[in-house]
Formats: sequence, C-alpha cells, structure tokens
Amino acid sequence: TKQASPCTVTVMGATGSIGGSTLDVLARHPERYRIHALTARKSREQLEVLCRLHRPSLAVIESEVDARWLREQLSSANVDTEVRSGEAALIEVAEASEVDVVMAAIVGAAGLLPTLAAVRAGKRVLLANKEALVMSGGLFMEAVDTHRALLLPIDSEHNAIYQCLPTEHRQGLSHHGVTQLLLTASGGPFLGWKAEQLASVTPDQACAHPNWSMGRKISVDSATLMNKGLELIEACWLFNANPDQVQVVVHPQSVIHSMAAYSDGSVIAQMGNPDMRTPIAYGLAWPERIDAGVEALDLFQVARLDFQAPDEEAFPCLRLARDAMKSGGTAPVVLNAANEVAVEAFLAGRMPFGGIANLVQDVLEGASVVSAGNLDIILEEDARARRLAHQYLARHDQGAGL
Ligand code: NAD
Ligand code: MG
Repeated sequence: TKQASPCTVTVMGATGSIGGSTLDVLARHPERYRIHALTARKSREQLEVLCRLHRPSLAVIESEVDARWLREQLSSANVDTEVRSGEAALIEVAEASEVDVVMAAIVGAAGLLPTLAAVRAGKRVLLANKEALVMSGGLFMEAVDTHRALLLPIDSEHNAIYQCLPTEHRQGLSHHGVTQLLLTASGGPFLGWKAEQLASVTPDQACAHPNWSMGRKISVDSATLMNKGLELIEACWLFNANPDQVQVVVHPQSVIHSMAAYSDGSVIAQMGNPDMRTPIAYGLAWPERIDAGVEALDLFQVARLDFQAPDEEAFPCLRLARDAMKSGGTAPVVLNAANEVAVEAFLAGRMPFGGIANLVQDVLEGASVVSAGNLDIILEEDARARRLAHQYLARHDQGAGL
C-alpha cells in the first residue's frame, strides 16, 4: 500500500555497521522514507559521504571541530545539510516533531540518553542499542508505555522472538501459553575452545565472526558470549520474562534467529540468512513487509541445523549476566559498564581475552547493588563501576593478574 507522505527517519549511529545496513534498506525505498538526520561520533569523512549520498536535513557529530570541517565540505559540495554538534543536538534529532522513526544504533551506554529521548517523544524506536535497555530496563519499558512509543527490537534474536509471539505479548508470556524463549547463539569465533586456548586470543581473531559482520565492540562481546548475556537481559525486559524462561541454545549456522516454545509443544522459529537488513526492514515497515535486499534462504545449501548447550565454564560472561539480571537493581548497569571498559582495554592490547570476564566479575563483586529507581542513579552507578574497573585495570598494568 502507498503511504500518503513519506515516513521520516533519524539514524543514530549512521556510520556504524547497523547504520550502514539501515541506510541500505532506506535507499531501496525512496518513496517510502525521508531521512531527517544522520549522527556519528568521530568519523567525519564517512559522515560526509553519507550526507552527499542521502541528503539528510541534519547531521550531528560529537565535536564542534568536526562539525565545522563537515560544514565546509558540504557547502563546497552544494549539499544543504545543516550540521550540529554535541549531545543536546543528538537528543534534539531523536525527539524532533517531524521525525516518525528513530533507529537507535549507537554502541554502548552512550546511546542511553538519546534512545530514551526518542522513547519519551513517543517515536517508533528501532532498538539496536541493547546496552541502553540492559542499563535502564524497568525505566525504559515504563517510558515506552507512558509515552506510547512503539518499540521494535532490531537485535536479530529479539526481532525473531517478536515475530514468533502474538502481537499483544506484553500481557505476559504465560498469558499466551508461551513457556520458554529460546535465544540462539552462533557461539562466536571460539566455539568449542577451552579456557586455556582462549588465553592468548588476539583482538583481530576475536573480531572475525564466522556469520555476522559487526562493529568491534559487539564482535568481542560475541566472542566472550557477553553479547548473549546482554541479550538474555534484553529479552527479559522486552518480553516481560524472567531469566529462567530464557534458554540459550548454541546454533552455529545462525539460520534460526530465535524461537518461542508454547505449552502445547509447539516451537515457532524465525529463519533467514544472517543479514541485519532483515530485522531492520521488519522494524521500518511493520506491520507491512518490504524488500530488504537480502538473498532468499537456500535450505538445500544450509543442509543442516545443529544445536548444543553453551559452555559456561569456558565462557563465564553468560553466567555473570544471568546472575546480574537475577540480582536486579543496578547489577546489570555495573555488568555493562565493566564490560565496556574491559572490551576497550582488550581491544587496546592492555589485557588478555580471559581478563574480560575476570574484570567484570571483580567489579560486580566490588560494587554494591542499589535499586535502579531513576536515571540519575543509573548514570551514577555506571560512572562508579567504570572508575572501579579502571582502578582494577591500573593494578593489572602494574603486574597484578586479572
Ligand atoms: P559500530 O561500532 O559499527 O557503530 C557504532 C555507531 O555509534 C557509529 O556510528 C559511531 O559513530 C556511533 N557512536 C559510537 N560511540 C558514540 C558516542 N559516544 N556518541 C555518539 N555516537 C557514538 O556498532 P554496530 O555494530 O553498528 O552496533 C551498534 C549497536 O547495535 C550496538 O549496541 C550493538 O550491540 C547493536 N547490534 C549490532 C548488531 C550488528 O550486526 N552490528 C547486531 C545486533 C545489535
Ligand atoms: Mg543479536
């Protein structure tokens, strides 16, 4: 069906992996979508290219130095995109009244405030930024209800589960006869490895994912299985589930993107090629379906689907995340903050792969959990956990083990 006027979209994190896939889908449907704003942190050259290509009304970048550079480039290329800088500008393009849809694809805690701003403005929010939900779950979902935002999960597993549940699933899983959510995991690049083998893994090895091409932070998270841990927490908030209702299933082919099990024995799965443009197109067009540029699934080429239980001994991050969710309050905030610091340190060559889980565990043990009652508390505990993580890291630099 044709829409009266095009739908207006802001893409936050436009220069990232999800941002790029989003722009690819949008460009396939110029009659359906208009781009209001594109945002990025530092990659000004890339943002310039995107502005020339997609002609958004606005572009937002972190520093004013980069904004000035971008303004000059765009004006000499006769592109009339207005360029702004800073967090206030980021929040403005998330809540602007002319915007219908916000793609939340900033990585990490930095995405929390702008994503929440989009929710509070009642937008259709396409949520890729799982860290925002992990940090503020209760508050975030409450804001979705209060402001009548439409929250559509883009993380492929959650998008799959969303497709496997009845539309009105927010009344609770048991109400609809759902007994379990089966969260599939590829297992990452080190599936089957033991702790000793994992010790000397390099950042480039960790970022070479067998099935998905993604940003470096989530790639490391996939390698440690912290990504699955964050996703378990994400699933609990999105689908009003308790941690024991979410079972992680290792499925190396990444063809089934997740499943819902029902009390009558039915298990409904969503399948497709591992290409983020599928969930992105789903979120953009819901409840309609549009072409995503994704190749049709060739089951004969897939040939087989394998399943196994995760190895939580070699990959303790999954257990740490589940325990943090069970502890509740700010425990997931601490988990996420410590993990962000740890992943950055690992990528910078400051500590070994196995140090990530150890650092997260140490910070969780060193921090006290409080109720995540409001945003100030969440941001405070996030900052506190980061300071603690940096203290442990500094000790590690001076020779103490992690
Ligand atoms: P990426 O590193 O490729 O891109 C991150 C984007 O966020 C970039 O545009 C960057 O400029 C911007 N950004 C980073 N820090 C920022 C800051 N402090 N302020 C403002 N902007 C900032 O990451 P990605 O792989 O596209 O992942 C984005 C989010 O989507 C993450 O939360 C990730 O967990 C989630 N996700 C990604 C995939 C995937 O396939 N890549 C799948 C599922 C979920
Ligand atoms: Mg995922």
